Amino acid sequence: MTGSQINRRELLGAGVATAAALGIADTAMGEGAMLAPGVARTDLAAALAAFRGVVGAEWVAGDAASVVPWTGSYVPDPGGHHAPVGAVCPASVEEVQAILKIANQYRQPLWPVSTGKNMGYGRTTTAAPGQVVLDLKRMNRIISVDPVLCTALVEPGVTYQQLRDYLDENAIPLWIDVPTVGPIVGPVGNTLDRGVGYTPYGEHFMVQCGMEVVLANGDILKTGMGSTKNPSAWQAFKWGYGPYLDGIFTQSNFGVVTKMGLWLMPAPPVYKPLVIRHRHVEDVSRIVDAMRPLRIANIVPNVVLMMSAGYQLAMFHRRGEVWNGAGPVPDEAFGSFAAAHDLGMWNTYIALYGTPAMVAESERIIRGAFAAIDGEVMTEEQMHGNPWFHHHATLMRGGLSLEEVGLARWKGAGGGLAWFAPVAPALGSETLGQIALAKDILARHGFDYTSAFAIGSRELHHIIALLFDKSDPEEERRADACYRDLVEGFGERGWASYRTGVQAMDLVAQQYGATNRAVNAAIKQALDPNHILAPGKSGIA
Ligand SMILES: Cc1cc2nc3c(=O)[nH]c(=O)nc-3n(C[C@H](O)[C@H](O)[C@H](O)COP(=O)(O)OP(=O)(O)OC[C@H]3O[C@@H](n4cnc5c(N)ncnc54)[C@H](O)[C@@H]3O)c2cc1C
Repeated sequence: MTGSQINRRELLGAGVATAAALGIADTAMGEGAMLAPGVARTDLAAALAAFRGVVGAEWVAGDAASVVPWTGSYVPDPGGHHAPVGAVCPASVEEVQAILKIANQYRQPLWPVSTGKNMGYGRTTTAAPGQVVLDLKRMNRIISVDPVLCTALVEPGVTYQQLRDYLDENAIPLWIDVPTVGPIVGPVGNTLDRGVGYTPYGEHFMVQCGMEVVLANGDILKTGMGSTKNPSAWQAFKWGYGPYLDGIFTQSNFGVVTKMGLWLMPAPPVYKPLVIRHRHVEDVSRIVDAMRPLRIANIVPNVVLMMSAGYQLAMFHRRGEVWNGAGPVPDEAFGSFAAAHDLGMWNTYIALYGTPAMVAESERIIRGAFAAIDGEVMTEEQMHGNPWFHHHATLMRGGLSLEEVGLARWKGAGGGLAWFAPVAPALGSETLGQIALAKDILARHGFDYTSAFAIGSRELHHIIALLFDKSDPEEERRADACYRDLVEGFGERGWASYRTGVQAMDLVAQQYGATNRAVNAAIKQALDPNHILAPGKSGIA
C-alpha cells in the first residue's frame, strides 16, 4: 500500500489562514452563511466542534476565512447559494463513520468529494445551501496494483498523477486513462461523476470494478465480489450477484465511496495518434456518420473527440487575439485563425493501439472512410510542433496535462466556465440542429460557441464550454440565465444532459421524468432517512 502525507497547507492551498491563526473565535463558525433547511446555527457550530474532536481542529474549516478553499468555482452562482459553510477532512474510514454519526445527530448535511476538482461543474461547491464539504483528499493510499490482472484499488484522494508515478516507479507497464485535467484530479471522483478520458478505457464507469461504500448509517458495503469469503475477484468481476449496486453510487448522494477498483490498460506495442481535419462547420454531420461504424466495430478503439476551431483556439489563445468585433466570434474568424495555426474547423482526434499489423490495417480502413468525405488524415510526423496535436496525442495515451485549463481565461482572468453536455444518438442528423440551437441561445446572451462533439460508443456528446468572465457580476448573471436556457431549449428537443453543474442539477433532473425521480427519492429515503448526504445532488433531495 502506498499513500502520501498531505499537509494542511497543501490541501487548502498556500496563503489561506486557519480560523485560529486569524483569531476568529469558535462562535463565529458558520456566521453569516446560509444554513441548510431545519439546521440551526447552534447545530452547525456543535457539529463542527464534534468534527474537530474526530479529525483534529486543523482539519475542520467553518469560518468565512478558513472555508475559502472550498467556496470558489468556475460555474455561475450570482446568488451565492452554492458555497459550503464548512469542510471536514477525515483520514480514515473510521473517521468517515464518526463524522456521519455526528451529521445524523445534528442533521447537518455533508457534501463528499474525493480530489474536489470538479471544475466547470462546481468544484467543491454544493447543490443546495448550508452543507459541509466532506473532503476525502487525505485518504490517498494506492491499496493495490495487480500487474497480472491489470487492476488497481485506490482511495478517494489518489490522483491520476500519483497512480502514474506509482506505476513508473515500480516499472509496471500499464497505462492509466485520464480526463483532460489528469494531474490534479483522481479516478474515484471522476468515475463517480461518470467522467471520461480518451484512451480505449475512456468510459471510466465501464472500467470501474468494485467499491467500498460507507452508508449514511455508518454501515460498510462492499459491492460486487467484495463481501464474499474470498474477495480476490473483487477487482476482476464487476457484477457480483443479484442487483448490480455500483451504479446507484455514481452521480448520486446514497453513500460515501471510500475505495474503488479500476482496470488499467496494458501498454500497447504501437501507439499511433491521428487527427482528421475538415474545413466547414457543416462537415460535422458527415464526420459522425463516418465515425460511428468504425467506433462500434472498435476499429477506432478510443473515445473520439471532434474539436471545433473555437474550442481549440480558446485552449491556447485569448478572445481578443481572435476577434475584436461586436457580438459572438463568427465562424469565419475562428476558421481563418485556426487555418493559420494548421487546424481545421473540425479537428477529430483518434488513435490506434496494437501490433504494427493491426495498426496498419485499421489505418488503411480509416483513411478510406475519411477520404470519401474530404477528411485530411494527419500523422504525428506531419503535425510535429503543433501544440494542439501534441496535447491530444498526450491525452490519448493517458498522459498528464493541465494545458486545457487555459479555456477558463478566454474572457480574461475572471475564470468563468460551465460545461453543458447534452446527449444524442451518434447520428450525423443530430448535429446541425444542435449547433444552430446552441449558437442561437449563446448569441442571445452574448457568448461564443466553443464546443466539441465526442463519440463514446453509440452516443454523441455535444460538449459546450460556456466561457464567461466571472469577475463581472452582470456577465455572471447572463451566464447563469444562458445555461438555464441551454438546458431547457435542448431538453425540449429531447437532448438532455448526461452530467451538469451544481447550479442546474434540479433543472436537469426534471427532464428525466417523474418516475425516475420518485425511484431515486425512495432509495434516498431508505438509505439516508435524515438526508445528510449531499441533498440536491443530481436533483435528489
Ligand atoms: C479544462 C477542463 C477540462 C476538463 N476535462 C474533463 C474531461 O476530459 N473529462 C471529464 O470527465 N471531466 C473533465 N473536466 C471536469 C472535471 O475537472 C473532472 O471531471 C474531474 O475529474 C472531477 O473532479 P475530481 O476528480 O476532483 O472529482 P471530485 O470533485 O472529487 O468529485 C466529483 C463529484 O463526485 C461526487 N463524489 C466525489 N467523491 C465522492 C465520494 N468519495 N463519495 C461520494 N460521492 C463522491 C461528488 O458529488 C463530487 O462533487 C474538465 C474540467 C476542466 C476545467
